[in-house]
Amino acid sequence: MCALAIGSNPTKVLIEEQSKTAGSKYTVNCLSCAPRKKDEHRTLFITEYCRVVFREDVQPFFARIVIFPEEHFSHLLTAEEENPTRKITIQKVLNDIYDCRYIFKIAYKTLFSLSRVNWVEAGNLNKDENGLQNYQEGYHHSHYHFVPRFANPVNWRGQQFVDSKFAEGLSINSNHYTDEEKVKLSKEQIIQLKEDVQLHLVKNQLVSWEWIARSMPSKAVIEAHEAIIKQKADAAKSKATAANSVATASSL
Ligand SMILES: [Zn+2]
Repeated sequence: MCALAIGSNPTKVLIEEQSKTAGSKYTVNCLSCAPRKKDEHRTLFITEYCRVVFREDVQPFFARIVIFPEEHFSHLLTAEEENPTRKITIQKVLNDIYDCRYIFKIAYKTLFSLSRVNWVEAGNLNKDENGLQNYQEGYHHSHYHFVPRFANPVNWRGQQFVDSKFAEGLSINSNHYTDEEKVKLSKEQIIQLKEDVQLHLVKNQLVSWEWIARSMPSKAVIEAHEAIIKQKADAAKSKATAANSVATASSL
């Protein structure tokens, strides 16, 4: 246990103390990157490098999304050094992250009349697998927030959601929004929202099916995907039949 000097920064002192005992500054057991079985109901899709989930706790923003790198890294600039065996490259991770941002801009515009997006890259110190705050360098948990903003109320399944401070900046002050202003979705509603958004993504072919398939999609989403496959097969068959008819006619 270290004695804190008067006027010293307690976080900085703890970082220094924990660094002395750390094997490697990037050997971590980050709580948010622990096996995520509990997140299945809110996982929208998983790319090669990122996991895309709804933020589900009480929040002021409807359908807010968080994008986690599939493998923990504390800083984008050190991602390659932190994950040498997986050969992660910064460019590949960035491509996936920005693809995700684009996909939701397009999808939310149609689904919820999205007005604006607040986009946040965060790398706050996280807890270890035992739920204890860890101050080592490697415990900065890199992730991204896609915060949809709505100039007009969003109507979804009989409920209205109002972005009461539209055009105002995000605030880390939890009192910035009153309880009435915060969006509250039950687990059942999150599951329904996941299905609604995934159906839109699948029907409009906005993401690869492989990504969606990794997220435990519902029966309705799987059926929508199968319908698209059938539609494509039928179209290819009609095209081949038409081409054959033309070839037969011209050979006569
Ligand atoms: Zn992490």
